[in-house]
Amino acid sequence: LPVILSCIIALSAGIMFYQYLNRPLSLREALYQAVSNDDFIPLLQPIVNPHGDICGAEVLLRWNHPKQGFMMPDQFIPLAETTGLIHKMTSQALSKVKNHLIEHQPLLPDGFHLAINISPEQCNDLTFYEDCQHFLSSFPNGKIQLIIELTERELIQSTTRAIRLFDKLRTLGAQIALDDFGTGHASLSYINQFEIDILKIDKSFIRKIGSLDRPSHIVDNVVDLAERLNIEIVAEGVENLTQEAYLKQRHIQYFQGYLYDKPLAPEIFIERLARQSRKQPCPEGQRTDII
Ligand code: C2E
Ligand code: MG
Ligand code: MG
Ligand code: MG
Repeated sequence: LPVILSCIIALSAGIMFYQYLNRPLSLREALYQAVSNDDFIPLLQPIVNPHGDICGAEVLLRWNHPKQGFMMPDQFIPLAETTGLIHKMTSQALSKVKNHLIEHQPLLPDGFHLAINISPEQCNDLTFYEDCQHFLSSFPNGKIQLIIELTERELIQSTTRAIRLFDKLRTLGAQIALDDFGTGHASLSYINQFEIDILKIDKSFIRKIGSLDRPSHIVDNVVDLAERLNIEIVAEGVENLTQEAYLKQRHIQYFQGYLYDKPLAPEIFIERLARQSRKQPCPEGQRTDII
């Protein structure tokens, strides 16, 4: 009897283990696996100057999920932040973007803006500094203007450590941008504490330009503030010519939005640069790719 019993126990343990191995992966486990497989694609959204020339790009991550297809950042960045995987993901993204840009260096205008988003957790991460250093050392001096985009969505835990990291990044020549400006809790104090170089006006304010309800009061005030503080502005979420005309008239330096292009696969972004270097306008109807 004991032999039969232990056989049954062993068998059921075996079955349970088999079921365990074949259970559907939780999002958390899938994310760990994706990081070790390097399954993320850094899309590049063009940033243009007032002449409409591409002068830079923002790196926007997509997860190429084996079952669910492309996943947007709001579906995985929060989990990446709580699990700490965000560090590795940013590092992988920087390295992939570096490889694309190195390969096509002659197409890059000098001082090409490369903007990368960081999460509050990364504001005291010295490996991030090392990644930036490594990234920049792969290009001749002045070829790339690296921009670190900081959101004020969540508060930064240790401002002293963040200030120290940003100072170190500045010694590399990087600039610090405040993303989604005007939507968070800390806008003005962050400008003050972190010596912000660039403000990205949030798309919710750009969207109101041309509308009837207090169309551009906030944009006007941000522009005045930035002028006084000698800070440059990127308008994000520019979708139509009315918005663009208004922003140009206010002498905003940089533009980003669907009016120019959506976030693009790196290969397609490089094609855009190639076309620009041949001075061929982008044909209508070919403007968008993966969102
Ligand atoms: P963000 O940094 O403010 O990026 C701009 C977002 O606006 C992007 O959304 C972009 O696709 C979208 N966008 C650009 N132009 C337009 C437009 O004309 N109209 C509209 N409606 N939207 C526009 P996306 O790619 O979904 O990214 C969302 C957020 O996820 C980003 O906001 C950023 O905070 C975060 N994120 C993306 N990649 C990373 C990353 O590598 N690391 C971290 N920490 N956060 C990331
Ligand atoms: Mg951003
Ligand atoms: Mg933003
Ligand atoms: Mg955002």
